[in-house]
Amino acid sequence: MAVKIYNTLTRSKEELKPGAPPLVTFYVCGPTVYDYIHIGNGRIFIIFDVVRRYLAYRGYEVKLIQNYTDIDDKMINRANEEGITVKELADRFIQAYEEDVGALRVRPADIKPKATDHIPQIINLVERLIENGYAYKTNGDVYFDTGSYPQYGQLTRQNRDDLLAGARVEPGEKKKNPLDFVLWKQKKEGEPAWDSPWGEGRPGWHIECSAMSTYYIDDALDIHAGGADLIFPHHENEIAQTWGAEKRPLARYWMHAGYLNIEEQKMSKSLGNVLTVRNLLKEHDPFDLRFLILSAHYRSPLNFSDELVAQSRSGRLRLQEMVNNLLSALDSAADTEGEKEKVLRKELKDAKTRFVEAMDDDFNTADALGVIFDLARSINIYLNEAYPYNRELLEEALRYYRDVNDIFELLDISEPESLDDEIADKIARRDKARAEKDFATADQIRDELLERGIILEDTPHGTRWKKK
Ligand SMILES: [Zn+2]
Repeated sequence: MAVKIYNTLTRSKEELKPGAPPLVTFYVCGPTVYDYIHIGNGRIFIIFDVVRRYLAYRGYEVKLIQNYTDIDDKMINRANEEGITVKELADRFIQAYEEDVGALRVRPADIKPKATDHIPQIINLVERLIENGYAYKTNGDVYFDTGSYPQYGQLTRQNRDDLLAGARVEPGEKKKNPLDFVLWKQKKEGEPAWDSPWGEGRPGWHIECSAMSTYYIDDALDIHAGGADLIFPHHENEIAQTWGAEKRPLARYWMHAGYLNIEEQKMSKSLGNVLTVRNLLKEHDPFDLRFLILSAHYRSPLNFSDELVAQSRSGRLRLQEMVNNLLSALDSAADTEGEKEKVLRKELKDAKTRFVEAMDDDFNTADALGVIFDLARSINIYLNEAYPYNRELLEEALRYYRDVNDIFELLDISEPESLDDEIADKIARRDKARAEKDFATADQIRDELLERGIILEDTPHGTRWKKK
């Protein structure tokens, strides 16, 4: 069995064959740090974090690079509006980004390069593009000459005429062809700028990812990923730049995450329905947001609404409750072996296989969640019907949910707790009282324990407890 990835470049699912296994080099285009991220961005970072974790689960050594775009028009405009420097703006929103995705349980990338820390690498790349005949200078700006690269449009799968129809020339731009894109921009009054062979200026947006990925990984990346909105022009341009300078592909596999809509509408500033992660986290549990996001395939559009978050929450809490029951059942487990154990053991084994099959198939988290729920149902049946429980089987089930949670991170699975002797003694006294039909004493002990945060649940097989 092998991991299969839907490669946007070939529009087909392909077996993952990294250049130097078990290493997988993985580059995700990061945020432009001029504002708080919205939940559509959040979805993308959660998805690729889960992809990264799953590849690690499958034995790969994943090296994840995710950049910060800390210089571009949006950065400059916003900094001017606020009367602060671009650097101050970047520092503020890099910190906000790290707080927000951290709260969403996205693990930090291994390398987090900033564009402004890589100006020499960017200049060097642009110089080589000029030398190789792929770029030209006009008026202090440098452009990529898309006419010099016949494969331009390969990722977008559109021919040059179609692409041309949508291309725009901004006022002041002097391009040979409207599809050409800027690599280096001449300094304008009041803008941050760096010295270059073409005069003072700053990089265009697309060039940084080609420059930084090559700087950190001197070979084609195994996986390059981002939101579907980056396919054109950003990723198309990255491919052209890297080919022009290095004469090799930028990446082997291209992954793109689908759009997120708010109540069936596109999220946009003009509709006023942009939901920042920061605001959503004031009302919602991050686990519930993750659950909703992972319940759809990553390439599909995802609809987002408060109602759907609430539904996700109730589904997720059923899983959480099963795990809590598993944890407390361990307290009374023994080494029973019978038909019920045989059934559950087989279901556990099947679930492990089916989970990997779903995730190997282009990271189908929706199907994988289905597998986890099916198994939870079987475990609940076992906990209700089999008693005493088989300790080794409960531990194996718990270990499995821990492994899965290490990839999806939807649940709180703390170490099995044991009761202190005094509380265990109280539960035993209450069981005895109940057996003697002394319900007044039993209720009194229940209330005492409740005050100490222990909730008791009476089952046909005795008393289960959980912490409040
Ligand atoms: Zn990029």
